[in-house]
Amino acid sequence: MNPSPEHLQVRYIAALSAVALLVIIGQAVVQIELSDHSNDARTINIAGRQRMLSQKISKAALALATAPADKAPQNERRDELRAALSTWKASHQALQSGIIQTEWEHRQNSAEVAVLFDAIQPHYESILNAASQIAEARAPSPDHSLLLDAILHNESAFLSGMDSIVQQYERESEARVNRLKRLEIILLALTLAVLTLEALFVFRPAVKKISQAIADLERRTDELKSEIERRIRVELELEKRAADLTASNRDLEAFAYAVSHDLQEPLRSVNGCVQLFERRFKGKLDADSEQLLTYMSQSCIRMKQLIVNVLAYSRIGSQQVAPRRVDTGAAFDRALEDLSAARIDSGAAVTRTEFPVVSGHEVQFITLFQNLLSNAMKYRGAEPPRIHASALRQDGSWLFAVKDNGKGIDPEYHERIFGMFQRLEGGEVGGTGLGLALCRRIVERNGGRMWVESKPGEGSTFYFTVPDKGDRSNDSR
Ligand code: ADP
Repeated sequence: MNPSPEHLQVRYIAALSAVALLVIIGQAVVQIELSDHSNDARTINIAGRQRMLSQKISKAALALATAPADKAPQNERRDELRAALSTWKASHQALQSGIIQTEWEHRQNSAEVAVLFDAIQPHYESILNAASQIAEARAPSPDHSLLLDAILHNESAFLSGMDSIVQQYERESEARVNRLKRLEIILLALTLAVLTLEALFVFRPAVKKISQAIADLERRTDELKSEIERRIRVELELEKRAADLTASNRDLEAFAYAVSHDLQEPLRSVNGCVQLFERRFKGKLDADSEQLLTYMSQSCIRMKQLIVNVLAYSRIGSQQVAPRRVDTGAAFDRALEDLSAARIDSGAAVTRTEFPVVSGHEVQFITLFQNLLSNAMKYRGAEPPRIHASALRQDGSWLFAVKDNGKGIDPEYHERIFGMFQRLEGGEVGGTGLGLALCRRIVERNGGRMWVESKPGEGSTFYFTVPDKGDRSNDSR
């Protein structure tokens, strides 16, 4: 099983805590060991001193009991004996009750030591009793030799008993040191075991995880690199295609321009011939031939219109003239003037707000407004056309709107009508299907957008934007 990083973290903290705990216990054990060691040394030292003191007591008692009653040295010897006795007695009691053993706690003597103390107790008491009597006597007396005998008689047993006690102390001290050493070894082994477990269950999976993550990272970097390379290739390809498209568009526009331009001449000839024919034979032909002649004449007019529009459309792309300040209000009025006949015919009412001065080409703005106005008059509803044009400054651009109360357009065709040769009408309403395509092209070439909002039967509003480059209009109507 592969543990999660959270699991590994918990294990790592647990192992670290265990190691810390073991180290603390190890330190405590070492401290106890050191303290025990110094206590044992002190006890052994005092026990050894008891031997020396008992010999000193014997000597001092002997000197007091046998020397002449010379006052000054006798007093000195008595004090000496008393001092030695008091230290000897205090040390004996302390050793026997175990008080010396430790500063922190009262540790009882072991059963073995207690038995040894019991064994020397009668000798101790006899020596203490006899030496105290000698020390307290004012002058040597005949009893003294008896007391001295008692001291000397018990001394060797006491001394050998003390030797056994010291040896027992040494054995016990050694056993304690060994016990603590064993404990230390166990603690060390436990620490090593925890560290091994940590290596096995924390570090090994962690290292595995890290190497996995590195491998993943390397793989992803490689993937990313190849993805970047792929995208660069696609981008270059796209750039190349865009450049090819621009070039072929330019060629097409040039071709369209050339064709429409060159078609004008033969069309003019055909039109001239048709008109000549009409003038010569009007009234002399039968009804069918008259009808045919009318079709021919209308087709010539339509063809001319088409050629003019195609020419205008392809000209927008090849426009070389630098943009100028254009009074859009004047351009609108000029377009409306050119449409006077259609306006009067349709009975249209046209109004507008203030229009700005913008940067661009005047002819293009006139063409733009002409197409929008003529469409608004052409695609009328039951009521006479009411057209209102407005301009509004918005987000660094001028937003123009041409609103009519005409028949409206189904939302399905809102985009399609801006395509070339796209018409929603039959032949009953004249048109080439190029007007709106031309309008959008003009707007986009000037850095703006164009769209329509409309519903069938509710009129249409054609919108377009023109970037505001700081020109101001003071035009009003
Ligand atoms: P054309 O007018 O020569 O047919 P346009 O490109 O100007 O070509 O218009 C395309 C089509 O969009 C028109 O055939 C017409 O159906 C529709 N259209 C354009 N303007 C309007 C309008 N104001 N109201 C309703 N329909 C319109």
